[in-house]
Amino acid sequence: MLDNRLTHRSSLYINGRWCAPENGLVLTDVINAADGSVLGHVPSGGVSDIEAAVQAARAAFESWSNLPPSVRADYLMKIQDGVVGRAVALAEIIAQEVGMPLKMASAIQVGLPVTNLGGFVRAIDEVEWEYELGNSSICREAAGVVAAITPWNYPLHQLVGKVGGALAAGCTVVAKPADIAPLSAFILADAIEEAGLPAGVFNLVSGPGRVIGDALSGHADVDLISFTGSTAVGSRIAKTAANNITRVALELGGKSASILLDDADLEKAVKTSVNNCFLNSGQTCSAWTRLVVPRSRQEVVIELAITAAKKLTLGHPMDEGTRLGPLACASQMASVLKMIKAAEGSERLVYGGSAAVAEVPEGGFYVHPTIFADVDNKSPIAQDEVFGPVLVIIPYDSVDEAVAIANDSAYGLAGAVWGADQERAVAVAKRIRTGQVDVNGGRFNPAAPFGGYKKSGYGREFGALGIEEFTELKAIQQ
Ligand code: NAD
Repeated sequence: MLDNRLTHRSSLYINGRWCAPENGLVLTDVINAADGSVLGHVPSGGVSDIEAAVQAARAAFESWSNLPPSVRADYLMKIQDGVVGRAVALAEIIAQEVGMPLKMASAIQVGLPVTNLGGFVRAIDEVEWEYELGNSSICREAAGVVAAITPWNYPLHQLVGKVGGALAAGCTVVAKPADIAPLSAFILADAIEEAGLPAGVFNLVSGPGRVIGDALSGHADVDLISFTGSTAVGSRIAKTAANNITRVALELGGKSASILLDDADLEKAVKTSVNNCFLNSGQTCSAWTRLVVPRSRQEVVIELAITAAKKLTLGHPMDEGTRLGPLACASQMASVLKMIKAAEGSERLVYGGSAAVAEVPEGGFYVHPTIFADVDNKSPIAQDEVFGPVLVIIPYDSVDEAVAIANDSAYGLAGAVWGADQERAVAVAKRIRTGQVDVNGGRFNPAAPFGGYKKSGYGREFGALGIEEFTELKAIQQ
């Protein structure tokens, strides 16, 4: 049973204290993706709360940024302890807010942010804070007040990527989580409060995206906006920020390709690619949603993909046997079903589809995993980000064509290459225009920079480069 105090929040965290929104308390329900019931609520802040939070962050900046990096690392370790202490509740809450099965939510939605907080602690020592260049001293300094605006699909992970990097760099933060899955941000604020961070270093304001987001991105006292979310909102933020020449880092959508070369271990490659695509019910920006395969192997790949997809039992995220949960909200379910239905009119559906049924709880936002094959890369289902459990299999006739297909996308976030000849596979990976590529299932590296090319955005998160993102460079000549 979840503690109501964790799920029913009515205060914002500004200047080191929990306070009611200035213009009166309006609460926004947080919906349980599994059955549509109310899981909790958060307060809806407004422009005056943003004003208070930005001023608090501004006032706290000088002393925070002047602390030795090792002291900031100590605070990050304390925050990590606080998150670890709340891990069980965090996993239960995120599993139901977002819909990811509990065991996975525990490992990915909570375990990963814990690892990444530790990663920032280690990376603080890897940053070259000051070095000599001829008669210049080059100093890396904190960028200032950071606005961290995050989406709902990996709510704690995305927030930690920004807050961890920004605090490590010496920045102060105003965080704004997505309304669909905001509760973990409040629990992170609890951990930050417990860690004893000076007042104003971290502030949390929830509320409607447009109002709060516009107020943050248009604020002259915000030095850097770090945004993860849709390409449309990212573009709007960049335009608004341009008025004050405010720096922006954008982590946006994706439509990543997993390329199977002709000598790939098909069984391993297909199984891993299918699991990657359907992770978090496809609500993963870096998901390999296009499986690019040699034409002569397509039918084998289809069979292997169906076998792998059948293992992903759809159901309540809190049930032991569930491998695939619901989508996060009703509008996401409607949008995904609309895209599946549109593709059914023209594409070869080989698994699932809009009419496929499964035994799932009533009222939840479930979509059956779906696979289309023989897809032309120019078709909408191969070009548009679905953000749901949909895989498209695209055949190719030459390696050059496979690379061209992978790169023929507005996005450039991630991808994979599979082949028995490692050197050849790496050579193909180097031709893919994305920020990350995994070769033959290369292990996830939390110290590696994460971010995109093209409409997937700009800027990098995590590890030492994810700290440097939140810095400015100064040259002092003598
Ligand atoms: P979204 O763009 O609708 O919302 C993201 C955040 O922006 C939310 O907090 C929202 O309230 C806020 N927002 C809304 N309007 C705003 C405005 N005008 N100004 C400022 N902020 C505003 O995205 P979403 O639906 O929450 O998330 C899904 C999208 O995020 C997908 O496109 C997905 O690919 C992308 N995503 C990208 C990454 C990445 O690292 N590249 C990671 C996860 C998700």
